[in-house]
Amino acid sequence: MDDPKKMKAQIEDISHVDVRKCMRCGKCSATCPNYDDMEYHPHQFVCMVEKGEIRKLMDSNSIYTCLSCFACIERCPRQVEPAKLIEATRLMVERERGANHLKPDMIVQKLDDQLPQQALASAFRKYTK
Ligand code: SF4
Ligand code: SF4
Repeated sequence: MDDPKKMKAQIEDISHVDVRKCMRCGKCSATCPNYDDMEYHPHQFVCMVEKGEIRKLMDSNSIYTCLSCFACIERCPRQVEPAKLIEATRLMVERERGANHLKPDMIVQKLDDQLPQQALASAFRKYTK
């Protein structure tokens, strides 16, 4: 059984983000280059973590469609750092799975020669504990 308070504390502990600093201006979402593909947008992550709706975020594809570009972090006037919440949520999912479900050689098979090295590093970060 999920304990929303405990899960919220875990996210805050992993990310070191203080969601109470958010003033709901929406600038993070307005600057997100992948806005249309995010089921939950960066400002919603902040709001939902504050409300303890962690399971919904963990079940969302937003944790994988986020590009980890950190534009939302750059844009936030309150230094809330929404992308860190998204990374922390993804890490919670990986920890819950209990093991790395995508091995390094499987990642390489999914990439092509045109992709930058950063994409490879990002894939390792996204799909491993
Ligand atoms: S880090 Fe993710 S949520 Fe933040 S602006 Fe980039 S794609 Fe959007
Ligand atoms: S830009 Fe910062 S303060 Fe504004 S909604 Fe996003 S997280 Fe909150």
